[in-house]
Amino acid sequence: MKTSQTIISTLREAPNDAVIASHQLMMRAGLIRKLGNGLYSYMPLGLRAFRKVENIIREELDNAGLLEMKPTVIQPGELWKESGRWDKMGAEMLKPKNRGGQDMVVSPTAEEAFTALIRDGLTSYKQLPIIAYQINTKYRDEIRPRYGVMRGREFTMMDAYSFDADQKSLDESYEKCAAAYRRIFKRMGLSTISVKADTGAMGGSGSEEFMVESEVGDDTLILCPKCGYAANIEKAACKPDIALDKDGNPQVATDKSVEEIPTPDVKTIDDLAAFLQTTPQAFIKTLIYKVINCGLDLSAHPSCKKLEKIDSDAGSYYPVSFVAVCIRGDLDVNETKLAAILKASDVELASDEDVERITTAPVGFAGPVKLENAPIIVDNSVMTMHDCVTGGLKKDVHFVHVEPNRDFTPFMVTDVRTVKPGDICPDCGAEFYSKKGNELGHIFKLGDKYTKSMNVTYLDVNGKLQTPIMGCYGIGVDRTLASIIEEHHDDDGIKWTMSTAPYQVVIVPVKYDGAMKENADKIYTELKSCGIDVLLDDRNERPGVKFKDADLIGFPIRIVVGDKNLPNVEVKLRGNPDAQLIPVDEVTKVTSQIVKEELDKLNA
Ligand code: ATP
Ligand code: MG
Repeated sequence: MKTSQTIISTLREAPNDAVIASHQLMMRAGLIRKLGNGLYSYMPLGLRAFRKVENIIREELDNAGLLEMKPTVIQPGELWKESGRWDKMGAEMLKPKNRGGQDMVVSPTAEEAFTALIRDGLTSYKQLPIIAYQINTKYRDEIRPRYGVMRGREFTMMDAYSFDADQKSLDESYEKCAAAYRRIFKRMGLSTISVKADTGAMGGSGSEEFMVESEVGDDTLILCPKCGYAANIEKAACKPDIALDKDGNPQVATDKSVEEIPTPDVKTIDDLAAFLQTTPQAFIKTLIYKVINCGLDLSAHPSCKKLEKIDSDAGSYYPVSFVAVCIRGDLDVNETKLAAILKASDVELASDEDVERITTAPVGFAGPVKLENAPIIVDNSVMTMHDCVTGGLKKDVHFVHVEPNRDFTPFMVTDVRTVKPGDICPDCGAEFYSKKGNELGHIFKLGDKYTKSMNVTYLDVNGKLQTPIMGCYGIGVDRTLASIIEEHHDDDGIKWTMSTAPYQVVIVPVKYDGAMKENADKIYTELKSCGIDVLLDDRNERPGVKFKDADLIGFPIRIVVGDKNLPNVEVKLRGNPDAQLIPVDEVTKVTSQIVKEELDKLNA
C-alpha cells in the first residue's frame, strides 16, 4: 500500500476525553474515529491491526478444533424470554421493536442464540462435544462508555460456547479453550494473568479471567508472590486470621454474660472504638442486605417461612429477601462473594426503612444477638472473636461481652470477606499483594442453565434423554487491540508487535523522486512479493514529518531511502534508537529475516 492511496491522518493532540495511552494513541495515529458516545469506527489503518488480532484469535481457535459460525446480531426477544433473561439483563441490553411490533434484541452476548442453533439439530451423544464460536458485533448500552474501544457500546467479541455430554467432557472443552487463549495472547505479545473469577448466581464449577495489568483497570487482582495464587478480588479467599485485642494478643473468651451499654452519639465503628478505648477488631459489624432473586433455600429460618418464592425452570428463588451479615469490624463484606453464596442475582445494602424494621432500631445499632427478623450470615472472621461488642437493636445501645459461639445462632458461617493486600495466601502462607487489571477474556463453566431452560436434549448411549452442559468463552477483540497498545508504546507513539502491526514495514524515501523513488519502489515490490505487509510513504512531506508519523503509528521496521546513503539504506527497528546501513540488494533478505524472527519469538 502506498500512503497516498490510503487515509493517514495523524493528530498532534489527542481529544480531551482520551485519558489513557491506548485511546490517545489510537486517535492520534488515526486508527479510529468517534461517531458517537461509545461508538468508535476503525479507519483503514486501524482496521488492519484489528483484523490481525481477529485472525490470530480465529487461527488458534480453528487449530483447537472450534467451529466458526455467524449468528445474526439482531435476535428475537422470544429466545431471551425462553432463557429467562429478558427481564434480568437490565438496561445494558438494547431491545428495539421491529415494524411488526415484535420484541428484538441487539445481541449483548449470545448464549441464547447458540443454544437455540445447536438445539435444532442435536439428537445423539455421538454429535457431542461441540464447541462453536463467532467473532461478531455486540452492543451493550454501557452506562459509562470510556477509554475509547476499551469500553465501548458497540464492540466486537469472540464468543464461544461448548456443549458436552458430561462434566469430564466439559472440563476438556474448558481446558482446550484456556490453552487456546494462552496461545492467542502470547502470539500478540500480551502479558496476561489468568485469575480465578466469580461464577455468579448460577453457580457453575469454574471460571477464569484473562487479565492485563492496567492502572485504569476496573478489576482488582489479588496475587501471591510465592505460589502464584491469582484471583479477582470478587473471588479471592485468604487464610482466616485470629481476632486480636487492643494489645495485639488473641482475644480471650469471657464468662460474663451479654450486657447492654449506652452509646449515645456514636455512629461508626471508629467512633465506638474511641468511645470504648478498644480496636475495630473487637466489634462485630452487622449489615442488613436486600437480596434480589436469592436461590439459596432460606426456609429453615423462622423469619423466612412465609417468604414469597418463585419456581421456574431455572430453579426456585425468592425475588426479594433480607439477610444480616456479620463480619469483624476492621473488615469489609464483598458483595460479589455474598451474592454468589446466596445464589442471588444481586445484593444491596437495605434501605434505612428496611434496616429499622429488621433491627427494630435506627441504622447503626444492628447486631446478631436477639436478631430474629433475618437469617444471619456470619463471616469466618467472627468465629475467632471473643468478648466482643455488637449493636444492641435499640437506639444508642450496644452489647458487650458477646461470645459468637454462645450468644447467637448463625444461619450460615462462610467467607464473605474482601481480601486485601497483606492478607495471607490460603495455599502457601505468603502475604498477598494486589494489582489493578483489565479483563480481556473470560472462560466459564455454565452447566445446564441454558440447555435446561431452553430444553436442549440428546439421546445418550442407552437411548435415554439427557441435557447437555455448556461452557462459554469470550474475548473482547477491541479491548485486546487497545491492550496491546497499552503494553507496547513510548512517548513517540505505538510500538506494534510484529504479529499485530497494521504494516510490518514502512519505507520512507527522503524524497519520492529520482534514484530514491526507484530504490524505494524496488524494495517495496520485493518485500510485498515475500509476503510482508509494507507501506510506502510516497507523500511529498518533509522527512521529519514522515518519521514522526512512522513512530506515532508504530510500524515495527522503518526503511529510510536517502540519496546520501544509496546504494545503502537505513533499517531501523521501532524499539531501537540506532539504524543499520544495509545494501539495497540485501535489504529484502535482512528485513524478511527480522520479521520472521520476531514472529517466531511470538509463536514460540
Ligand atoms: P466488564 O466486567 O469489563 O464489563 P464483562 O464481564 O461484562 O466485562 P463478558 O460479558 O465476560 O465481559 O465479555 C467478554 C469480553 O468482552 C470481556 O472480557 C471484554 O474483553 C469484552 N467486553 C465486554 N464489555 C465490553 C465493552 N463494553 N467494550 C469492549 N469490550 C468489552
Ligand atoms: Mg460488562
